Amino acid sequence: MRMKALAALALQAAVFAAVPSFCFAQSVLSKAVRTSESMEPALVFPDQLKEAQKKLDDLQAKTGRKPNIVWLIVDDMGYGDPGAFGGGEAIGAATPNMDRLALEGLKLTSTYSQTTCTPTRSAILTGRLPVRTGLTRPILAGDNITKNPWADEISLPALLGQSGYATVLSGKWHVGEDVGMRPHDIGFDEFYGFYEAEKEVSQSVDKRRYPDLVLNPERLAMLAKTGSSNQLIHGFKGGETTAVETIDSLEKMAEGDRLLKEFSVKKIADLAKGDKPFFLEHCFMKVHADNFASKEFEGKSSSKFPYKDDVVEVDAYIGQIVDALDKAGVLDNTFIFVTSDNGPQMDSWPDSGYTPFRGAKASAWEGGIRVPGIAYWRGMIKPGRQSDQLFDLMDLFNTSLHLAGAAGKIPTDRYIDGIDQTSFLVADNGLSNREKVYVWSGKDLMAMRMYELKIHVKVVETKAQWLDIDMTTVSDVGLAPWLFNLYIDPKEQYPVGHRMSAFLASMLAELKEHAATFKKYPPKDIGL
Ligand code: CA
Repeated sequence: MRMKALAALALQAAVFAAVPSFCFAQSVLSKAVRTSESMEPALVFPDQLKEAQKKLDDLQAKTGRKPNIVWLIVDDMGYGDPGAFGGGEAIGAATPNMDRLALEGLKLTSTYSQTTCTPTRSAILTGRLPVRTGLTRPILAGDNITKNPWADEISLPALLGQSGYATVLSGKWHVGEDVGMRPHDIGFDEFYGFYEAEKEVSQSVDKRRYPDLVLNPERLAMLAKTGSSNQLIHGFKGGETTAVETIDSLEKMAEGDRLLKEFSVKKIADLAKGDKPFFLEHCFMKVHADNFASKEFEGKSSSKFPYKDDVVEVDAYIGQIVDALDKAGVLDNTFIFVTSDNGPQMDSWPDSGYTPFRGAKASAWEGGIRVPGIAYWRGMIKPGRQSDQLFDLMDLFNTSLHLAGAAGKIPTDRYIDGIDQTSFLVADNGLSNREKVYVWSGKDLMAMRMYELKIHVKVVETKAQWLDIDMTTVSDVGLAPWLFNLYIDPKEQYPVGHRMSAFLASMLAELKEHAATFKKYPPKDIGL
């Protein structure tokens, strides 16, 4: 049976023979505490938790309501794109708004996503690794999945809705567009956006990049049959769904993010007047290829390249959304997190972002999964903080529920990979509650980061420079796993393996513990 084979794969990936029973044997490296079989072990700091909780309680006493939660998720933006992370004007696209939020908030330099869009977007809404939900790679038009992965998942907006929150997704979805899989089917009150990625929407009108499609009516008809969607959709819980606009020109595509921003800005003003706290997930279509800047932003970057103009555009919109919160009088009561859903897509270079790390989108090397992370909350997160401790984007699931006073709603009948990072983010000198990040690519357990060490038990190899999606293989490692020290070797080029590290076996033991969780909680297969 496929599930069993998958679980076996996960175990085999830990290099050891199959784990004999469900056991948690932590290595000497670990200080994390496992409080439940179904929860990821976490580092516990009672004092900082107390400090954070007091700040939250004091704020609620002042405002009389739970905090709002706003996620600003850029598509395919590289770790090195924002100025605060080493890019900005230095690489031809100034990002003053992201830089300001990083400077006045908490800059997280070891934030991890999944390797591609759908896996990250589903993981942050479920707190679960893609291999557990079955959403292991982007769903493409024409994919025949065997079951609705959402049918038995419990989403963050569903849980927040039960806790009195208004929930809105503005922007890109990319986690299924059939009935039952749309944002407004899986827990969001309202959806205003696109089901697919930018390139999927623009390809049928872009004759320069896709002449074999656009100039061939028969092929265009075939594309339509795959169910590919080129519409801006407005949907509501309960099923009401309308197409607001059809993207039938590149000029219209270029304005997509402006429309999404205008929707979010207006929505914030409306929600702030309401009697419910709100969760707004704003997902930019940009800067995923293919990039076409809005008229107002064309040529506005120093570089003048479309990707860079779009970085400038997205950054401006981030500033406008934060301003909207301020104007509505709710900025002090809103937790904001800015990030990207994966590394830059180098396959589309020069329509691509920048990462200082090895690899890119789709890769288990740092370039694929290390993303900018900014936690901003005026008056609550101490300005000027920076941390290189671990933050996995899945932690947003647990953290958001804690902020909403709904930590008790975290499901206990399934494995939750996210960790509550509230105390890390909110306590003035908080330390991360996360000890390890596990790196999966599709159905393969690839690697693990712990402290500054990263161990690979499988590796992605590119067969042509920059083609991290379109021409790669996944290989098993040989006698020794590939172990890197990211502080002295951030590009993962010089393995320290058994010659230079005392902890190779301990790292493997940690991976084995992770693999063991799949024995009791088998992965789900949806035919992707
Ligand atoms: Ca993406």
